[in-house]
Amino acid sequence: MTSAKTEICDAIHAHRRFLITSHARPDGDSIGSQLAMYYALEALGKEARIVNADPAPDHYMEFPGVDRIEVARAVVEQDADALIVMESGDLARTGVSGLDGRFTINIDHHQGNTNYGTLNWVDLSAAACGEMVFDLIDVLGVPLTIEIATHVYLAILTDTGSFHYSNITPKTFDICRRTTEAGVNAAAMARRVFDQNSFGKLKLIGALLDQMDLLDGGRLAVMYLNDHILNATSTTYNDTEGLINLPLTAREIQAVIFFKLGADGDIHVSMRSKYDVDIRTIAARHGGGGHKNAAGFKLRGPVEAIRDGVIAEVRDAIALGMQSRP
Ligand code: 5GP
Ligand code: MN
Repeated sequence: MTSAKTEICDAIHAHRRFLITSHARPDGDSIGSQLAMYYALEALGKEARIVNADPAPDHYMEFPGVDRIEVARAVVEQDADALIVMESGDLARTGVSGLDGRFTINIDHHQGNTNYGTLNWVDLSAAACGEMVFDLIDVLGVPLTIEIATHVYLAILTDTGSFHYSNITPKTFDICRRTTEAGVNAAAMARRVFDQNSFGKLKLIGALLDQMDLLDGGRLAVMYLNDHILNATSTTYNDTEGLINLPLTAREIQAVIFFKLGADGDIHVSMRSKYDVDIRTIAARHGGGGHKNAAGFKLRGPVEAIRDGVIAEVRDAIALGMQSRP
């Protein structure tokens, strides 16, 4: 029996012009997975372009190839003979229209993927989609250049929450070993990814933590983002990436909810948790998704109408998850 991975390799060899995309508001794993794949296709002599609904966060702009990512909400021409979608449970998550009806390769590591592709490879055990792309590149026999290695490492570094999450396996380190052998400087990557705050972002952190609610006897932190805080600190929505993890550094905190009111009027609810506190189920109940310890969903406001319900659900998840704690 041929595996999905082998079929995808065959399909990559059989096609010539590729369109790569991923979910809207791309994160390190989506940027890294797409660009690692892009460079591998280029090495194979293929034509490839990357189209994303939103730009990469500012601090990724210096990474190789990020300037080649096209930002668009629609693709019109049928100028590719194969579509590669990464990290997206369904095509709508890309925020890009005009993708339907193409030869589609779906590569993802999220539970709840709807298998919308012509070929579907969903590996829930992968710590990052970048791990899966690394596997593909290995099977395709493409040499691990510094560009590819950098993007695979970026994907893993960010999607493991800098090696904090329970999705890490021996394979994760094996891949990281290969990428560091290929020239990736792990210390420099950590600085480039995590130590890129503007002074405005430091002020934003201060404001968010100052207004944070501590609930459930200090086990649950709730943060709120709105235009007022962004304006007061001269920051943008993009500056909020990663901030949800800050409250988790407090020993007692078991879960964090971050209500982000976006310019489009949508509320994006981001959640994080520790160990067996499962917040993915909550996100899925509201039409979102993610992983056990990192998940999210979108709602229409006002935030007051939904806040108490979500908080109650997370409190229940904390109580349940902590039962199995040694
Ligand atoms: P974040 O909180 O950083 O936006 O997302 C954390 C995790 O939850 C990521 O794996 C992300 O893909 C997933 N996630 C966040 N928002 C949504 C959503 O609206 N729908 C789905 N399906 N997944 C989401
Ligand atoms: Mn991912």
